[in-house]
Amino acid sequence: MNTKKTYAIGVDLGATTVKAGVVTKSGFIPDQLSVDSKAKKGPAVVLQQIIFTIQEIFGKYNPSECLGIGIGTPGVVSITDSTVQHPPNFTDWAKVDVAKQIRNKFKIPVYIENDANCAAIAEARFGAGIEFKDFLFVIWGTGIGGGVILDRKIYRGPYGGAGEIGHVSIDYNGRLCNCGNYGCIESYVGQRYLSQRTKEILLATPKDNIQTKIEKLVDGDLNLLDPEIISQAAEEGDPIAIGVLEEAGTLLGYALSSILNVLDLRVVVIGGGVSAAPAFVYDAIIKSLRSRILKPHKEGVRVIRAKLGNTAGIIGAASLVL
Ligand SMILES: [Zn+2]
Repeated sequence: MNTKKTYAIGVDLGATTVKAGVVTKSGFIPDQLSVDSKAKKGPAVVLQQIIFTIQEIFGKYNPSECLGIGIGTPGVVSITDSTVQHPPNFTDWAKVDVAKQIRNKFKIPVYIENDANCAAIAEARFGAGIEFKDFLFVIWGTGIGGGVILDRKIYRGPYGGAGEIGHVSIDYNGRLCNCGNYGCIESYVGQRYLSQRTKEILLATPKDNIQTKIEKLVDGDLNLLDPEIISQAAEEGDPIAIGVLEEAGTLLGYALSSILNVLDLRVVVIGGGVSAAPAFVYDAIIKSLRSRILKPHKEGVRVIRAKLGNTAGIIGAASLVL
């Protein structure tokens, strides 16, 4: 007897948590859970955590109705053998065939893809990119990641590593990036840098003992600064917060202009934690992008917010199966 297959499982593997969800064919998540990924304990323990989330779902949903499992992971996913190589912040992890091990355990189809690519796929199929055949997807968070959607499909590159837009350099003599290069856009607009830059400016600005709006929001403890607080202060009119975010938007626009010039794309969809920034940040991005992009590429250039928020990882992973 044929059982109707109605859902897929999407697993979003991160350095801190494993999130897994039941995803329907229309991209809806009726149920999800999250556990510690235990990334410091090595691949065997991480795999056990992934298996646990799937077993929990199969305890509630009929496994014979599951189309398969999709997994989004940090690191480079090989196109030829689907191994995951060197995911950042995972201990003792050189090269692991996650998909094969999960497939052996559950005996159903399992696919794996880089997490930024998964989020791009999710936005393309169910989110802000649905009306665009081609676009650049940017994850603006701790770092800057991305995915390239061409003709509604993810572009992986011949070795599976395409979309590393955070390491487009905007200054060859600039700040040293984690990757070893200088002036990467990530080291100017990533979450940590925004907090650090705000702190530096606040400490260097004489204020006659009057707390600025942003200092009030963190009760004077500048180590608590994060992009959400900076955004909130900016919305309340704090000039330092506005300045930091506007500058970040301007710099990101410069980097994006180079990428759009190379790829001949017109649309940028921005997701990730910092993408919730106020509208004026998007104005700054589009203004600098338009000022630097080649004239023939300028027509119809758009920068829009992603729609799926932090569910994009689960939905995109499940989309590998759906
Ligand atoms: Zn870099």
